[in-house]
Amino acid sequence: MKDLLGLYPQEITEIVTSLGDKPFRARQLLKWIYLKGVSDFDEMTDLSIDFRERLSASTKISKLVCEKITTSGREENLHNDEKESDETTKLLFRLDDGERIESVIIPDGKKRTLCISSQVGCALGCTFCMTGKMGFVRDLTAAEIVGQVIAAGKYLSEIKGEDGSDDEGIKISNIVFMGMGEPLLNYDEVVRAYDIISSGWGLEISWRKITISTAGIPDAILRLGRDRNINLAVSLNAPDDETRSSIMPINKKYPLRELIEALKKYPLKRRSRITIEYVLINGINDSQDHAHELSRIVSGLKIKVNLIPFNPYPGSEYERPNPDIVSRFQAILIKLNINAIVRKSKGRDISAACGQLATEKKIRKGH
Ligand code: SAH
Ligand code: SF4
Repeated sequence: MKDLLGLYPQEITEIVTSLGDKPFRARQLLKWIYLKGVSDFDEMTDLSIDFRERLSASTKISKLVCEKITTSGREENLHNDEKESDETTKLLFRLDDGERIESVIIPDGKKRTLCISSQVGCALGCTFCMTGKMGFVRDLTAAEIVGQVIAAGKYLSEIKGEDGSDDEGIKISNIVFMGMGEPLLNYDEVVRAYDIISSGWGLEISWRKITISTAGIPDAILRLGRDRNINLAVSLNAPDDETRSSIMPINKKYPLRELIEALKKYPLKRRSRITIEYVLINGINDSQDHAHELSRIVSGLKIKVNLIPFNPYPGSEYERPNPDIVSRFQAILIKLNINAIVRKSKGRDISAACGQLATEKKIRKGH
């Protein structure tokens, strides 16, 4: 059965006409699917019953099944050293084939950033990343990527006002492809999902509010720069090949010089910058020399730096640096005129922070 979720308007129009109906019905369908998030044809009351029957005989609109919702800051999830209450929410989805993926809703004032997954697991095996430890299972389809945004939006509208707060109008405002997987290794489905999320006929989240994060695959970065104009984040994590290759095996294939070359060619809209993500790991990449070297290799690039203190997880072999090491690293960059912020890791108590996404079943299997 053809899934209507994840299709472009033209493709839906073709299906509509092949079922013998007028092309404009496609517009109505798009509204139901993306604007209203409806997946049951019976609810599409402005379509004739006859047409709805023909649709449901040969097509479907898939929906992600949310298996578990965990919210950070709730008593049961707090450890003694983590008394932060931030209401970060992790949604665990079960896919049709039984695989599981996670998305995370990160609140910030009225803003709600959704961190979405692009693959089940990841093939790149970065040594500090929990998803990397799972290994690669499979790519997600565009429907599964977009499905995360629709499901998270529904979740927000359902909890609205539940606790007496005035959350009217709170919606997913920003999207980051920073969940499980390497988006640029699932290029076609990720670009399709991006188009659906950012288009007026789709989920209507402005391109300005969407960022794709990559471990750094130069050809794919160049291709993305030609195809679309998407905000890019690059997980640099080390300023020299030796250190980087030791924590990010992909660096052996695409060394820093090639990566930086690709970034230099990436087209940027006015006032936009590439985000450089840098996970600070105690004793590995957090020295003053590393900070100076980092500023050297990014010179000439329009960037901002996000410093992410390493988030430990069960079985991880690294440590988070002391806060003064983190501040020193940041201060060196700022002194060298680099815009550097330290990212607060939200949701640490529920394993929803960066690099802590992996479904438990898989991790256990691998270890
Ligand atoms: N594969 C893409 C998208 C995933 S983003 C990428 O690597 O960019 C995941 C982000 O979390 C990356 O910036 C990664 O460097 C960071 N990360 C991974 N493990 C982490 C950990 N344990 N602590 C903090 N950040 C981590
Ligand atoms: Fe994959 Fe990104 Fe994790 Fe590296 S950091 S293993 S590329 S998800």
